[in-house]
Amino acid sequence: MMQDNLKQLEAAYEIIKNNKLIEIDEKKNDIEILRHAKRLVRVSLPIVMDNGSIRVFEGYRVQYNDARGPFKGGLRYHPEVDEDEVTSLAFWMAIKCAVADIPMGGGKGGIIVNPKELSKTELEKLTRALARALAPVVGPLVDVPAPDVYTTPEMMSWFKDEYSKIVGVDSPAVITGKPLTDGGSKGRDKATGLGAVYALEAYLEKTDKKEITVAVQGFGNAGLHFAELSHPEWKIVAVSDSKSAIYNEAGLNIADLIKHKEETKSVVDFPGSKNVTNEELLALDVDVLVPAALNSVITEKNWENIKAKTIVEIANGPIALPESKKLADKGIVIIPDVLANSGGVVVSYFEWRQNLDKESWETDDVNAKLKDKIRSAFAAIWDAKEKHNLDLRTAAYVLAVARILEAEQKRN
Ligand code: NAD
Repeated sequence: MMQDNLKQLEAAYEIIKNNKLIEIDEKKNDIEILRHAKRLVRVSLPIVMDNGSIRVFEGYRVQYNDARGPFKGGLRYHPEVDEDEVTSLAFWMAIKCAVADIPMGGGKGGIIVNPKELSKTELEKLTRALARALAPVVGPLVDVPAPDVYTTPEMMSWFKDEYSKIVGVDSPAVITGKPLTDGGSKGRDKATGLGAVYALEAYLEKTDKKEITVAVQGFGNAGLHFAELSHPEWKIVAVSDSKSAIYNEAGLNIADLIKHKEETKSVVDFPGSKNVTNEELLALDVDVLVPAALNSVITEKNWENIKAKTIVEIANGPIALPESKKLADKGIVIIPDVLANSGGVVVSYFEWRQNLDKESWETDDVNAKLKDKIRSAFAAIWDAKEKHNLDLRTAAYVLAVARILEAEQKRN
């Protein structure tokens, strides 16, 4: 995974150098800094389990780059967490924060654990142990974690509480994604979906398209809110979850579909729609395809089936890198993950700001600020794409790498 990131880094650096986008002193070879994580912390977390036995869990925190601000990125609890993956995701966070132009860097962490096998008491002990183990290297101005795969707002509260006890000061800004009642931000729950809506809206303004058909893969936090918050002119004709997909060419009633999903735990068998497979959903002849479930769903096996003219990457890395290039060469516009799903981290940054300033912003205020950030990021990426004839992903990397390098140069 990290290999792909490094390829994108090198490609962006070549464009920055050749077009003299920032001043570069070749002797310094400052790009080398971005090829490495600044710090990798590996922790062992001994926990007394409910049955009295002791189990030791292994965890990581990768602090990739903090030239633009504190490291920022999630903590995931998953049996397959590994060093390479966490490093790669930490690099990605640095790029994402720079694309969104928020003053934060990139980090990521996790524990090798299947949280479904642990009781709530054990999960609390594990999270508090992680906070104690990371306390010397995190902090509101140093590294600010957040939820990620299988971690919850409640866990963020435990982390904050344990860290605050250690430093002796209530420190809500040490972590984001907390519950609203414990320093969380209004608007965080819908921010990723809404950010993707704003990104697509900004792109459509560059075209003459207003009325579009859309297929959304994944109906979880991000996909559901994208569908729920999308414009009336956008017809959501298909959505899916891990069980299967549904399709209605006349458009799906999303409010009714949310109720159906709550009642039956799936989107399948939604009245008035027909069931199709997830592969069929990806290949639908729609204007916009929104992968919002998993990484690597479009690969060499199925990329030629894609008929959508635009893809909005809400999932992280839903398209394999070579296929992303092939699709872009075919004229398919890909709104890249580092922009399309950055709404979550932008509102996490807002949460951090509110905590530091002891403020609480209203939802409308949060959403207006989010819109502003996404539209500015889109405009800058579009500008770079037009000026240097790039696809949007490469343009986003060029912008981000230039911003991070400039910040590094200031301190070296
Ligand atoms: P989630 O767990 O809430 O939802 C995932 C959805 O995908 C569920 O509806 C699930 O049923 C569906 N799914 C799982 N396997 C599938 C399969 N094989 N085919 C089709 N659908 C499948 O997760 P989420 O928070 O909505 O995140 C979705 C993606 O967006 C992930 O890649 C995540 O990294 C990315 N993302 C999320 C956020 C956020 O704030 N939620 C932020 C940035 C990126």
